[in-house]
Amino acid sequence: MTARILVVDDIRTNIKVLEAKLTSEYYEVITAGSGPEALDAVASQKPDLILLDVMMPGMDGFEVCRRLKADPEAAHIPVIMVTALGDPEDRVQGLSAGADDFLTKPVDDTAMFARVRSLLRVKLMLDELRMRERTSASLGVISPPVPKLDEDYASAQILLVEDNPRDQVRLQRMLEGQFRTELIADGMEALNRARQVEYDSVVVSLSLQNPDGLRLCSHFRTTEETRNVPILLLVGPDDQKQLVKGLEIGVTDYVVRPIDRNEFIARLRAQVRRKRYQDRLRLHYQQSMEMAVTDPLTGLYNRRYMASHLTTLLSQAGSQHGTAVVILDLDYFKQINDNHGHPVGDEVLREVGNRIVRNIRGIDMACRYGGEEFVVLMPDTDLDSAEVVANRLLHALGDKPVATRGAGELTVTCSIGCTSSNSSDNAETLLKRADDALYEAKNGGRNRIIYRPA
Ligand code: GH3
Ligand code: MG
Ligand code: MG
Repeated sequence: MTARILVVDDIRTNIKVLEAKLTSEYYEVITAGSGPEALDAVASQKPDLILLDVMMPGMDGFEVCRRLKADPEAAHIPVIMVTALGDPEDRVQGLSAGADDFLTKPVDDTAMFARVRSLLRVKLMLDELRMRERTSASLGVISPPVPKLDEDYASAQILLVEDNPRDQVRLQRMLEGQFRTELIADGMEALNRARQVEYDSVVVSLSLQNPDGLRLCSHFRTTEETRNVPILLLVGPDDQKQLVKGLEIGVTDYVVRPIDRNEFIARLRAQVRRKRYQDRLRLHYQQSMEMAVTDPLTGLYNRRYMASHLTTLLSQAGSQHGTAVVILDLDYFKQINDNHGHPVGDEVLREVGNRIVRNIRGIDMACRYGGEEFVVLMPDTDLDSAEVVANRLLHALGDKPVATRGAGELTVTCSIGCTSSNSSDNAETLLKRADDALYEAKNGGRNRIIYRPA
């Protein structure tokens, strides 16, 4: 996985060292010598990851990070702060500025590449979600903007997996009042529980026995329901090799024992923030996609989706009978609105939608074509079979009055145009033929069906 990495440092030789290391692993490197230069580079070159020096004259790394994380166009780009001091205070300040991780100078190669790879994985997923977001926007879906970060950590649910009794007590005490925590000593039991409860983050002790900590993390990553939950690994100072392994498996972050309470809390908060951001993007995407393809009043597919689906159906080879189309338009519907009001009209439209869906097959597709016009697409259906369905629809509507809350029972009839495709049809010609048939049905007195063979 190649990527563009921005290296920010006020000292030229520091940049050179990191640039050489990263280039040797085939990353593309761009550089900036100050905070303002870094902000410009982010805006113009959209890096995938940023290695950011903390101590710089003028605008320091913390300030750069804060500004990036407040910018909706840049907030999702992971930032690794590079600090000279191993001071936990520094880390906490950086994490609350929104940094995703830390490296201490002189930078250890293994640690750096492990962190870079792991953060790039997260970035890749966020990019995918952001791209879908743009796709649904370009489909014309107007949906509420994705809410910004929320800071309600007290409601966050954290699962602690630790089997050492003394550490159990310590961990719980550290997080008391910060998050809602739950402790489970047995790894597999924890995994099962996490399949049912949606945790904001899981803390796994590397020293866990049976299964060992890494194996458990791997189970979390390969289990459908827990694939995306952030995992924070607790490691000892000499566990470097296993830590690298863990990051390869997909552990999201780690804390080195002895645990600094503030750093532990700050790292968990960062995980909670990111998890919620991802969840919101995902949910938002699902909602926008639903909105993009359905009609809000009836819940049927909308016209745009039907049209593109019809094109797909017609392009499919191997269908024996072609695609049949029914267009159905309510008769004198305007009078219902005029006599009883628009809300009653809406009630009728909803019930008509329900009746249509109940009277077609599962593979047929019903859509609201316009105000009081509906279309049913029937794949691999010849005109004779379509007749049966069209007839059923005519009676399903006209034979039984619609019960409305606003105006009691109302009898509603419809006119129907019906046709089936031949090999030279496209979506437009097919719908046009059905529409012509509908027009004829209206002119012929309404409450009837006109068939047009291909
Ligand atoms: P025809 O038999 O010729 O089809 O007559 P009609 O009155 O059904 O047709 P016309 O096209 O004159 O009127 C359609 C009416 O449908 C007018 C419009 O106000 C109403 N309509 C369109 N969309 C909606 C809607 O979402 N809700 C309600 N309540 N009415 C709608
Ligand atoms: Mg009508
Ligand atoms: Mg009409």
